[in-house]
Amino acid sequence: MNINLKLETSELCYVYSKYKITKFNNKEYILPEGNATKKKISLTEQINDILVDTLNIGKKVFYKETIEQTELLDYFAKYGSFGFMIDLAINKYFVLDNKVAIRDAFYITDKETIDFVNIDEYLKIFLPELNKREINGLIKKCKDIASDTNSEDCLTSIINQYLIYSEHYAEPIDLVLNYVRSLYKNLILTIEHKPLTMKLPFLSANHLTHNLEDLYYNNSFGFTINYLKQAIDIYYGMQMAQDVRLLKVCNYCDKAFIAKNPKAEYDTYNCKNKANVYKSRARSSNIIHTETGIAVKIPSEEFSKELLKGLKKKYK
Ligand SMILES: [Zn+2]
Repeated sequence: MNINLKLETSELCYVYSKYKITKFNNKEYILPEGNATKKKISLTEQINDILVDTLNIGKKVFYKETIEQTELLDYFAKYGSFGFMIDLAINKYFVLDNKVAIRDAFYITDKETIDFVNIDEYLKIFLPELNKREINGLIKKCKDIASDTNSEDCLTSIINQYLIYSEHYAEPIDLVLNYVRSLYKNLILTIEHKPLTMKLPFLSANHLTHNLEDLYYNNSFGFTINYLKQAIDIYYGMQMAQDVRLLKVCNYCDKAFIAKNPKAEYDTYNCKNKANVYKSRARSSNIIHTETGIAVKIPSEEFSKELLKGLKKKYK
């Protein structure tokens, strides 16, 4: 069965020109710089790059490699924040309710089960710069918008502007790193056919909107993406579900990549060359495994010949 499924970005997705890392309550956050400018972003046009870049930061967390602050700041300036505030809330219009039910509460409140948090406390987690009065003002504003909006169609996108696309919206860095790590972990375990050991903070479909007009005019079903994490989760699922899977992990450097050729094993020529050198070295191996399991290095045949030539020259 072939399905014509399309992803499109909501008109109301944004990115800021510059981000900074700041501590609030001893927790590191990433958020837009004070003087940053806000512009619209299409998350679907560059979805391949987004998925691969996200997985490759995840790869660094997974293998405990160093991640420079600039790397995270550049990622955010390119694609914007993930939208965890929306994504982790179970109730779709949480800002209109008194309490927010949080899935994957572990990342927010260190609890394993679904947790219920007062709306003002929940907003404070992602808007640490705002005081109580400002947060209550924001909640009132969102409620006013909801009661003024005739159709529910774009309510999510409109409310998002005041929440995840606000200049005060901040995401805890440990939350970001946990997410990208688990995405990469899922990829590598799936590719290696190993059991998935953890439940992943994946897709909450209740925030997904769809486009029925496309179904009517073009025979294609379209999902409208409202924020970055949603784009990544859905596109990851689509890539992984392909009968010929092109989302792969390089056999040499372990980075994720989307292959043009289904048989590709390496993300770059450089890795392919290095892997070949490695293989041919392994073939003319100069390591011997003894009965006691100790590896003993002896000069390889090529090396011995070179050495002999050198010696001959010297003593001629
Ligand atoms: Zn590679």
